[in-house]
Amino acid sequence: MRFFSFTAEGRRGLALATPGGYRGCLEGEAGWPGDLDTLLREDRLAEAATALAACGPVDQGDVTPALPFNRADKVLCVGLNYADHAAESKMETPPFPTVFARFNSNLIAHGANLVRPAASEMFDYEGELVAVIGKPGRAIPKERALDHVAGYTIFNDGSIRDFQLRTNQWTVGKNFDGTGAMGPVFVTADELPPGAAGLRLTTRVNGQVLQDASTSLLIFSVADLVSMLSIGMELRPGDLIVTGTPSGVGMARDPKVFLRPGDTCEVEIERIGILSNPVVAEEDESRKALSAA
Ligand code: ZN
Repeated sequence: MRFFSFTAEGRRGLALATPGGYRGCLEGEAGWPGDLDTLLREDRLAEAATALAACGPVDQGDVTPALPFNRADKVLCVGLNYADHAAESKMETPPFPTVFARFNSNLIAHGANLVRPAASEMFDYEGELVAVIGKPGRAIPKERALDHVAGYTIFNDGSIRDFQLRTNQWTVGKNFDGTGAMGPVFVTADELPPGAAGLRLTTRVNGQVLQDASTSLLIFSVADLVSMLSIGMELRPGDLIVTGTPSGVGMARDPKVFLRPGDTCEVEIERIGILSNPVVAEEDESRKALSAA
Protein backbone atom coordinates (compact mmCIF):
# COMPACT_ATOMS: atom_id res chain seq x y z
CA MET A 1 0.00 0.00 0.00
CA ARG A 2 1.13 3.48 -0.86
CA PHE A 3 -0.41 6.39 1.04
CA PHE A 4 -0.21 10.12 0.26
CA SER A 5 -1.09 12.76 2.88
CA PHE A 6 -2.23 16.19 1.75
CA THR A 7 -4.28 19.23 2.58
CA ALA A 8 -7.05 20.76 0.48
CA GLU A 9 -9.74 23.32 1.28
CA GLY A 10 -7.99 23.85 4.62
CA ARG A 11 -8.56 20.27 5.68
CA ARG A 12 -6.37 17.20 6.06
CA GLY A 13 -6.64 14.53 3.41
CA LEU A 14 -5.33 11.03 2.82
CA ALA A 15 -5.14 9.09 -0.42
CA LEU A 16 -4.22 5.57 -1.47
CA ALA A 17 -2.54 4.59 -4.73
CA THR A 18 -4.80 2.29 -6.74
CA PRO A 19 -4.33 0.85 -10.24
CA GLY A 20 -6.51 3.73 -11.48
CA GLY A 21 -4.57 6.49 -9.66
CA TYR A 22 -4.86 7.99 -6.19
CA ARG A 23 -8.22 7.84 -4.41
CA GLY A 24 -8.92 9.52 -1.11
CA CYS A 25 -10.90 11.95 0.96
CA LEU A 26 -10.78 14.87 3.34
CA GLU A 27 -11.30 14.92 7.08
CA GLY A 28 -15.01 15.20 7.81
CA GLU A 29 -16.06 13.35 4.66
CA ALA A 30 -17.51 9.85 4.66
CA GLY A 31 -14.65 7.41 4.37
CA TRP A 32 -12.07 9.57 6.25
CA PRO A 33 -10.06 6.98 8.19
CA GLY A 34 -7.84 9.38 10.19
CA ASP A 35 -4.28 10.47 9.47
CA LEU A 36 -1.34 8.07 9.20
CA ASP A 37 -0.10 8.73 12.76
CA THR A 38 -3.52 7.68 14.07
CA LEU A 39 -3.81 4.70 11.72
CA LEU A 40 -0.44 3.31 12.84
CA ARG A 41 -1.23 3.77 16.53
CA GLU A 42 -4.59 2.05 16.09
CA ASP A 43 -3.26 -0.62 13.70
CA ARG A 44 -5.86 0.26 11.04
CA LEU A 45 -3.82 0.68 7.83
CA ALA A 46 -5.52 -2.15 5.94
CA GLU A 47 -8.99 -1.02 6.98
CA ALA A 48 -8.11 2.55 5.92
CA ALA A 49 -6.93 1.33 2.53
CA THR A 50 -10.29 -0.34 1.92
CA ALA A 51 -12.13 2.86 2.87
CA LEU A 52 -9.89 5.10 0.74
CA ALA A 53 -10.15 2.85 -2.32
CA ALA A 54 -13.89 3.50 -2.27
CA CYS A 55 -13.38 7.31 -2.21
CA GLY A 56 -13.10 9.68 -5.16
CA PRO A 57 -10.02 10.35 -7.29
CA VAL A 58 -7.33 12.70 -5.96
CA ASP A 59 -5.14 14.58 -8.41
CA GLN A 60 -1.80 15.20 -6.67
CA GLY A 61 -1.43 18.37 -8.73
CA ASP A 62 -4.61 19.86 -7.22
CA VAL A 63 -3.71 19.42 -3.54
CA THR A 64 -0.89 20.47 -1.21
CA PRO A 65 1.32 17.60 -0.03
CA ALA A 66 1.49 17.21 3.75
CA LEU A 67 3.97 15.45 6.02
CA PRO A 68 3.07 11.75 6.16
CA PHE A 69 3.80 11.85 9.91
CA ASN A 70 3.95 14.88 12.19
CA ARG A 71 3.29 13.46 15.64
CA ALA A 72 6.03 10.85 16.01
CA ASP A 73 6.96 10.31 19.66
CA LYS A 74 10.54 9.86 18.51
CA VAL A 75 12.43 10.94 15.41
CA LEU A 76 15.66 8.97 15.81
CA CYS A 77 18.31 9.92 13.27
CA VAL A 78 21.36 7.79 12.67
CA GLY A 79 24.65 9.44 11.79
CA LEU A 80 27.64 7.86 10.03
CA ASN A 81 25.72 4.79 8.86
CA TYR A 82 27.42 4.45 5.46
CA ALA A 83 31.15 3.67 5.56
CA ASP A 84 32.00 6.03 2.69
CA HIS A 85 30.16 8.90 4.41
CA ALA A 86 31.95 8.25 7.72
CA ALA A 87 35.24 8.31 5.79
CA GLU A 88 34.47 11.56 3.93
CA SER A 89 33.45 13.10 7.29
CA LYS A 90 36.81 12.00 8.72
CA MET A 91 35.03 10.15 11.50
CA GLU A 92 35.39 6.59 12.75
CA THR A 93 32.87 3.97 11.74
CA PRO A 94 31.00 3.57 15.03
CA PRO A 95 30.61 0.22 16.84
CA PHE A 96 27.10 1.23 17.94
CA PRO A 97 24.70 3.49 15.99
CA THR A 98 25.41 7.20 16.44
CA VAL A 99 21.94 8.52 17.20
CA PHE A 100 20.66 12.05 17.53
CA ALA A 101 17.13 13.41 17.78
CA ARG A 102 15.19 15.61 15.42
CA PHE A 103 11.91 17.22 16.42
CA ASN A 104 8.67 17.18 14.45
CA SER A 105 8.48 20.97 14.64
CA ASN A 106 11.26 21.61 12.11
CA LEU A 107 10.05 19.17 9.44
CA ILE A 108 8.37 20.24 6.20
CA ALA A 109 6.43 18.38 3.53
CA HIS A 110 7.27 17.61 -0.08
CA GLY A 111 7.12 20.82 -2.12
CA ALA A 112 7.39 23.16 0.87
CA ASN A 113 10.30 25.58 1.30
CA LEU A 114 13.55 24.46 2.86
CA VAL A 115 14.73 27.52 4.76
CA ARG A 116 18.37 28.53 4.74
CA PRO A 117 18.66 30.27 8.08
CA ALA A 118 19.83 33.83 8.52
CA ALA A 119 22.40 32.56 11.03
CA SER A 120 24.43 30.39 8.63
CA GLU A 121 25.21 29.77 4.98
CA MET A 122 26.34 26.18 5.67
CA PHE A 123 23.02 24.49 4.85
CA ASP A 124 23.72 20.94 3.68
CA TYR A 125 21.50 18.16 2.31
CA GLU A 126 21.38 14.49 3.40
CA GLY A 127 19.18 12.05 1.49
CA GLU A 128 17.95 9.20 3.72
CA LEU A 129 15.62 6.24 4.03
CA VAL A 130 13.13 6.32 6.94
CA ALA A 131 11.82 3.17 8.62
CA VAL A 132 8.46 3.75 10.30
CA ILE A 133 7.60 1.65 13.35
CA GLY A 134 4.22 -0.11 13.22
CA LYS A 135 4.30 -2.50 16.16
CA PRO A 136 5.55 -1.59 19.65
CA GLY A 137 8.46 -3.41 21.22
CA ARG A 138 11.42 -3.20 23.55
CA ALA A 139 14.61 -5.26 23.33
CA ILE A 140 13.45 -6.61 19.97
CA PRO A 141 15.58 -9.50 18.68
CA LYS A 142 17.11 -8.84 15.26
CA GLU A 143 15.33 -11.87 13.73
CA ARG A 144 11.95 -10.32 14.55
CA ALA A 145 12.92 -6.66 14.06
CA LEU A 146 11.40 -6.21 10.61
CA ASP A 147 8.00 -7.37 11.94
CA HIS A 148 7.98 -4.06 13.83
CA VAL A 149 8.45 -1.89 10.72
CA ALA A 150 5.21 -0.77 9.06
CA GLY A 151 6.85 0.84 6.06
CA TYR A 152 9.16 3.45 4.65
CA THR A 153 9.40 7.03 3.47
CA ILE A 154 12.08 9.50 2.33
CA PHE A 155 13.92 12.14 4.36
CA ASN A 156 16.20 15.08 3.70
CA ASP A 157 18.14 15.49 6.95
CA GLY A 158 19.08 19.11 6.21
CA SER A 159 21.96 20.14 8.46
CA ILE A 160 23.50 23.44 9.47
CA ARG A 161 27.09 22.23 9.51
CA ASP A 162 28.83 24.96 11.49
CA PHE A 163 26.28 24.61 14.30
CA GLN A 164 26.34 20.79 14.04
CA LEU A 165 30.09 20.70 14.51
CA ARG A 166 30.34 23.46 17.11
CA THR A 167 30.00 20.81 19.85
CA ASN A 168 30.07 17.01 19.79
CA GLN A 169 26.29 16.93 20.29
CA TRP A 170 24.64 17.57 16.92
CA THR A 171 21.12 18.42 18.05
CA VAL A 172 21.20 22.19 17.48
CA GLY A 173 22.65 22.01 13.97
CA LYS A 174 20.14 19.31 13.05
CA ASN A 175 17.07 21.17 14.25
CA PHE A 176 16.92 24.57 12.61
CA ASP A 177 13.31 25.36 11.64
CA GLY A 178 12.33 24.38 8.12
CA THR A 179 15.52 22.41 7.43
CA GLY A 180 14.23 18.81 7.41
CA ALA A 181 11.90 17.41 4.76
CA MET A 182 9.94 14.15 4.65
CA GLY A 183 7.58 12.37 2.28
CA PRO A 184 5.73 12.58 0.01
CA VAL A 185 4.51 8.99 0.29
CA PHE A 186 4.47 6.25 2.90
CA VAL A 187 4.97 2.81 1.37
CA THR A 188 4.15 -0.26 3.44
CA ALA A 189 6.94 -2.76 4.04
CA ASP A 190 5.26 -5.56 2.05
CA GLU A 191 5.78 -3.53 -1.18
CA LEU A 192 9.58 -3.41 -0.77
CA PRO A 193 12.47 -5.85 -0.27
CA PRO A 194 13.04 -6.91 3.37
CA GLY A 195 14.51 -3.96 5.29
CA ALA A 196 14.14 -1.84 2.12
CA ALA A 197 17.60 -3.13 1.21
CA GLY A 198 19.05 -2.84 -2.28
CA LEU A 199 17.21 0.35 -3.26
CA ARG A 200 19.06 3.09 -5.10
CA LEU A 201 19.13 6.40 -3.22
CA THR A 202 20.06 9.57 -5.08
CA THR A 203 20.16 13.23 -4.05
CA ARG A 204 20.10 15.93 -6.71
CA VAL A 205 20.55 19.67 -6.42
CA ASN A 206 19.20 21.54 -9.45
CA GLY A 207 19.23 18.22 -11.31
CA GLN A 208 22.88 17.41 -10.58
CA VAL A 209 23.40 14.05 -8.84
CA LEU A 210 25.43 14.60 -5.65
CA GLN A 211 24.64 11.40 -3.73
CA ASP A 212 24.14 7.99 -5.36
CA ALA A 213 24.23 4.81 -3.29
CA SER A 214 22.36 1.63 -2.45
CA THR A 215 20.50 1.17 0.82
CA SER A 216 22.32 -2.18 1.03
CA LEU A 217 25.41 -0.22 2.08
CA LEU A 218 23.96 0.72 5.47
CA ILE A 219 26.45 -0.26 8.20
CA PHE A 220 23.55 -0.92 10.59
CA SER A 221 20.64 -2.33 8.58
CA VAL A 222 17.04 -1.47 9.38
CA ALA A 223 16.78 -4.73 11.36
CA ASP A 224 20.00 -3.89 13.28
CA LEU A 225 18.70 -0.41 14.10
CA VAL A 226 15.29 -1.58 15.32
CA SER A 227 16.96 -4.19 17.50
CA MET A 228 19.77 -1.99 18.86
CA LEU A 229 17.70 1.17 19.44
CA SER A 230 15.00 -0.78 21.29
CA ILE A 231 17.48 -2.15 23.84
CA GLY A 232 16.53 0.55 26.33
CA MET A 233 13.52 2.39 24.95
CA GLU A 234 10.25 1.02 23.70
CA LEU A 235 9.72 1.76 20.03
CA ARG A 236 6.11 2.74 19.38
CA PRO A 237 3.88 2.92 16.32
CA GLY A 238 4.69 6.06 14.37
CA ASP A 239 8.26 6.37 15.66
CA LEU A 240 10.64 7.23 12.84
CA ILE A 241 14.13 5.82 12.36
CA VAL A 242 16.01 8.01 9.87
CA THR A 243 18.71 5.61 8.77
CA GLY A 244 21.64 7.86 7.76
CA THR A 245 23.09 9.35 4.59
CA PRO A 246 25.63 8.04 2.08
CA SER A 247 28.68 9.95 0.84
CA GLY A 248 28.46 13.02 -1.31
CA VAL A 249 27.22 15.57 1.22
CA GLY A 250 28.08 19.17 0.38
CA MET A 251 30.37 19.70 3.38
CA ALA A 252 32.73 16.92 2.21
CA ARG A 253 33.04 18.19 -1.38
CA ASP A 254 35.86 20.21 -2.80
CA PRO A 255 34.73 22.89 -3.31
CA LYS A 256 31.99 22.58 -0.71
CA VAL A 257 28.40 22.72 -1.94
CA PHE A 258 25.75 24.33 0.25
CA LEU A 259 22.09 24.85 -0.50
CA ARG A 260 21.31 28.36 -1.68
CA PRO A 261 18.07 30.26 -2.19
CA GLY A 262 16.65 29.35 -5.60
CA ASP A 263 18.02 25.78 -5.52
CA THR A 264 15.80 22.72 -5.71
CA CYS A 265 16.88 19.68 -3.69
CA GLU A 266 15.48 16.26 -4.53
CA VAL A 267 15.96 12.93 -2.79
CA GLU A 268 14.85 9.87 -4.72
CA ILE A 269 14.63 6.31 -3.45
CA GLU A 270 13.86 3.63 -5.97
CA ARG A 271 10.36 2.15 -5.61
CA ILE A 272 9.41 4.76 -2.99
CA GLY A 273 9.42 8.10 -4.80
CA ILE A 274 10.92 11.57 -5.01
CA LEU A 275 11.01 14.17 -2.23
CA SER A 276 11.53 17.60 -3.78
CA ASN A 277 11.86 20.98 -2.08
CA PRO A 278 12.85 24.48 -3.15
CA VAL A 279 15.29 26.42 -0.99
CA VAL A 280 14.54 29.94 0.21
CA ALA A 281 16.45 32.34 2.43
CA GLU A 282 15.06 33.08 5.86
CA GLU A 283 15.40 36.78 5.07
CA ASP A 284 13.12 36.41 2.04
CA GLU A 285 10.51 34.63 4.14
CA SER A 286 10.43 37.36 6.78
CA ARG A 287 10.32 40.08 4.12
CA LYS A 288 7.39 38.35 2.46
CA ALA A 289 5.59 38.06 5.80
CA LEU A 290 6.25 41.74 6.53
CA SER A 291 5.10 42.93 3.13
CA ALA A 292 1.95 40.80 3.38
CA ALA A 293 1.09 42.27 6.79
ZN1 ZN B 1 21.53 12.41 8.44
